[in-house]
Amino acid sequence: MALGGGREIGANSFYYSVDGQGILIDAGLHPEKTGWAAFPAIAALQGSPVDHFLVTHAHTDHLGAVPFVRQSYPNVPIYATSETIELSKIMLQNSASLLPKQHSQEVLDALPNYAMTALPETIERMRPLDLGTSETVAGGNVRISYYPSGHILGAAGIYIEADGQKIFHTGDTSLHAQRLVTGAQLPEGPIDVLVTESTNGVVDAYLTHSREKELERLIETINETLKNEGSVLIPVFALGKLQEMLTMIGDAVKAGKLPSVPIYTGGMGRRINEVYDKFLTSRSRTNDVDKTSDIEQAELPRREFLFGGKFFREPSIVLAASGMMQEGTASYFLAQRWLRHSHFTICFVGYTDPRTPGYIVSHAQQGTRIRFGSMKRDVPVRSRIERFRFSAHARREELLEIVRRLKPRHVVLTHGDEKAMSAFGELILENFPEMKVSAPEVGKWYGFNGSR
Ligand SMILES: [Zn+2]
Repeated sequence: MALGGGREIGANSFYYSVDGQGILIDAGLHPEKTGWAAFPAIAALQGSPVDHFLVTHAHTDHLGAVPFVRQSYPNVPIYATSETIELSKIMLQNSASLLPKQHSQEVLDALPNYAMTALPETIERMRPLDLGTSETVAGGNVRISYYPSGHILGAAGIYIEADGQKIFHTGDTSLHAQRLVTGAQLPEGPIDVLVTESTNGVVDAYLTHSREKELERLIETINETLKNEGSVLIPVFALGKLQEMLTMIGDAVKAGKLPSVPIYTGGMGRRINEVYDKFLTSRSRTNDVDKTSDIEQAELPRREFLFGGKFFREPSIVLAASGMMQEGTASYFLAQRWLRHSHFTICFVGYTDPRTPGYIVSHAQQGTRIRFGSMKRDVPVRSRIERFRFSAHARREELLEIVRRLKPRHVVLTHGDEKAMSAFGELILENFPEMKVSAPEVGKWYGFNGSR
């Protein structure tokens, strides 16, 4: 049963009833919704037991509702990789601090586990289950293994074997390696059920560009802006995209492809950098030498001093959260100033949800006026705006490759918008007409019985 993230990218959470055991994978917060709709639909379980709670990775849309789930299931052990546990300390604090901006007092009053004093209890409940290791739970009947899933540091795909059934839950995954994070590893096929993400299930022109070409284009754009005495704003997610972009820009400076100008990064992103540096030998990393702390960075000023930032006077590169310019974040505020300067550039480097300010800004035409978020007035678009794709998710061909390698009888599509899911579902059926494909509705049971 999908409790969230069924036919959208949101409060991802999936419940499996396997051999009499209840297994919950992930509990995320929806980044856009407010009120209880932003949380997984735990009530749909109607008291079904949760014996094991597994977290795939530390992004908020997979982790943010873990304290919420613990309110209904306080004693359940929570398994995650050591990297994810370390990242959770930062990410859960961030979720807790953002809740008051998104929710009414009535909702907040019903969330005692998000009090800063209560958060450590959730962290203490987390048990390491590391990449490349397995654990037999529930009296020897259910075996759970964590596979590196690419995507971000410590991210796992989860393989469940029980009662002759084999289920693989991809989590967020990418087969291609990124700069710091390696590509996914998969168990041996054939399996019975594949539950896969489908973020990039629809053909996207940007994704046909190679990463190398995109990087070249980005470096060229930054160089052109700096030459005109302008600064470059790159909205990034503090977890994952920041470390990847920072390292690639650091490479380019070292290779003499970019001049050495100040590179600004923000507080939470820097704490996450430290975790990336702490886990140099993690199985999810491409190498054990690249430290983000080796790249010289200037500290992004706090909100109230942002507009006094030196980057408005001297050419700089600013890596600011969030990637989708969500209201209240540094990139949201900076964009309002950036847009007014014709010699400045905003470079988008990832997916932007159509409901976010990032989407409006990334699709704005120079010479027009736009308004986003809760802005009271239009702002003129004078700056240059460019879009790049450095996806941390599997491309469409990679998703099909996962299906080809695992040879499941059933494919369950999750974590994609309806367009992506139906396009990818059709692609699977064209290639493997014998497979069954479903896209689960939140709160409905789907049964997969019988053997191969
Ligand atoms: Zn993710």
